[in-house]
Amino acid sequence: MALRVAVTGASGRMGEAVARAVSAEAETELACLVARRGSRLVGTGAASIVGEENCSINVSEVLDLEAVDVVIDFTLPESSLVNARACAKAGVPIVIGTTGFSDAEQSDLESILSAVARCQAANFSTGVNLAYRLLSLAAQVMGSDSDIEIHEAHHKYKIDAPSGTALAMGRAVASALGQSLSDVAQYDRAAEREAREPGSIGFSVTRAGDIVGEHTVLFVSDGERLEITHKAGSRDAFANGALRAAKFIADKPAGAYTMSDVLGLS
Ligand code: NAD
Repeated sequence: MALRVAVTGASGRMGEAVARAVSAEAETELACLVARRGSRLVGTGAASIVGEENCSINVSEVLDLEAVDVVIDFTLPESSLVNARACAKAGVPIVIGTTGFSDAEQSDLESILSAVARCQAANFSTGVNLAYRLLSLAAQVMGSDSDIEIHEAHHKYKIDAPSGTALAMGRAVASALGQSLSDVAQYDRAAEREAREPGSIGFSVTRAGDIVGEHTVLFVSDGERLEITHKAGSRDAFANGALRAAKFIADKPAGAYTMSDVLGLS
């Protein structure tokens, strides 16, 4: 039997990409597609969103978990907390891609979900999660002899900077060097007229057009330069990773699983 997946945020960019990914795979079935209460999509056929004529369900405003094996949620923190409560009550595993939780919301989320399998990641792309491991290795081998800089580029609507992924890459590098990112990160050079601080990790940011997400970490020493770059070409990169995570946690015991677990990198 196909894995029955519920997807939230039907009118969102990620919700749509995830619903399409679930629908396109033979081994998964879109069992419930949820839009925000009052959305014009509620009650309309999900087929028009996922582009699969054989999808017979309508978009719902309720996360009905009666016939669902796993939930994938990319919405907003407030909505994710509501969805997490529903999953905890029904004992259904959940993949959470929503970002921007405050510390208090994150702690609520963790306690709400303590009794179910869950996977939360700020970036579900397979390549980025593999890149964390490659960066850690590069930092161990080249880090102490290199100047390390991180550049990221995103679409013009993104409001936070540097991206959560750039910061996570920074943490992977800093931690491999036995440091804390907050001690070595350099976010703004405009205010100072000084040479580069040895051991610092510099960040630079581009916001332009429709760039989905690009990250490059440079390790530059005298005479050579290593660049580790990831480019997301579309939101499918995140949707496919989230779906992979959903398949992984669907039959797992309660616990917090990471993308490293999903990809077999742990
Ligand atoms: P979006 O603004 O296009 O979509 C957000 C969706 O959430 C909309 O469908 C909206 O109707 C729904 N929503 C908001 N409040 C709701 C509520 N109270 N109840 C029900 N639904 C509600 O945003 P997006 O680009 O799809 O991104 C969604 C989230 O996913 C953001 O937090 C974003 O940062 C994150 N994201 C994560 C990854 C990752 O790999 N983890 C990748 C891309 C985006």
